[in-house]
Amino acid sequence: MAITQTAVSYYGLNYVEHAGRDFREIRDHGCNTVILAVTEFDFDFWRPNIPEIVGKAHELGLRVLLDPWGIGKYFGGEQVSLFLQNNVENRQVSALTGEKLPYACFNTQSFRDYFQRFCLTLAREAGADGFFWDEPHYAFPKSYASITGGTGEDWTCRCPVCRSRFQEYYGYEMPKILNDDVKTFRRREALFILEETSRKIKELNPAQEITCCVHATLNSYYVSENRGYDDWEAVAASPWFDVFSTTIISWELPRAFFEHITKRTVETAKKYGKKSERWLMGYYKQPADFRQIGETVDLYESFGVDRLAVWTYRGGYGTVLAAPDALKLWDSIGENFKRVLVRGREFRRN
Ligand SMILES: [Zn+2]
Repeated sequence: MAITQTAVSYYGLNYVEHAGRDFREIRDHGCNTVILAVTEFDFDFWRPNIPEIVGKAHELGLRVLLDPWGIGKYFGGEQVSLFLQNNVENRQVSALTGEKLPYACFNTQSFRDYFQRFCLTLAREAGADGFFWDEPHYAFPKSYASITGGTGEDWTCRCPVCRSRFQEYYGYEMPKILNDDVKTFRRREALFILEETSRKIKELNPAQEITCCVHATLNSYYVSENRGYDDWEAVAASPWFDVFSTTIISWELPRAFFEHITKRTVETAKKYGKKSERWLMGYYKQPADFRQIGETVDLYESFGVDRLAVWTYRGGYGTVLAAPDALKLWDSIGENFKRVLVRGREFRRN
């Protein structure tokens, strides 16, 4: 059992020569894969340079995955959305207030077409090794955890498209209460856009690899976050995904939580013959004691995780989400990535 992939996300897909310099630094930090966070603006404006940047990463020996970062605010990420700027409809709608929200409804044909066009164009043009589905979710996903009483009651999406499709399936009006039919409907529709797009990407090129990364949540008796991808089994079972990944956990959470999430991630991936991936928080916050980074990497390895990934290049240095000691954090992650790859015999010194 060994960790064979160490990935870091990277923004700023502008000039090839700048990216090349950063990719050398990424490689020197023990990463063998780069996840390019492609924004809607990058796609719209910098598209000629994207294949060049992918080519540069390949030239330097890095694998490349494309992350349609924050697209329609459907995926995680801070970027702004051109889709939302250019479409006043096709938005998720609050079940209780009927308010249109600044999140694309991924069950509408309009957003499904937009998302698919974005991904298939990149699959055709960019020459990367695959795609990374980054924390897909419904808006207002998180219900309040309470062992003494109720949870948050609002949810999405109750837009005209979702309501009419629900009516077709179940023969009654979509209720404002999150009943079991609504939960099933939300999950089924949520998976549809990713499965369809993944299938079409693989039709274009069967070698394209798809990683689906869902939120690392308990979803236990007491709390379910209802983001639409909470049924890990259903996600991991999808024949169109190759890697089952779960997101970053705050350094402040207890070790038992890291163990619980990691164990479940690996078990779920293995059950469906998928590779497993766990993330490290490499931006915004850092551990009080940097030794926690090594301990967490060792924990992931001991549970049989196949792949590690960190968000983001240089600890977010220069952004509002930089860790307090961003470059020190980046160096420490780099040291640990090199250490595990040497153990997995995947890191070749240049
Ligand atoms: Zn909707």
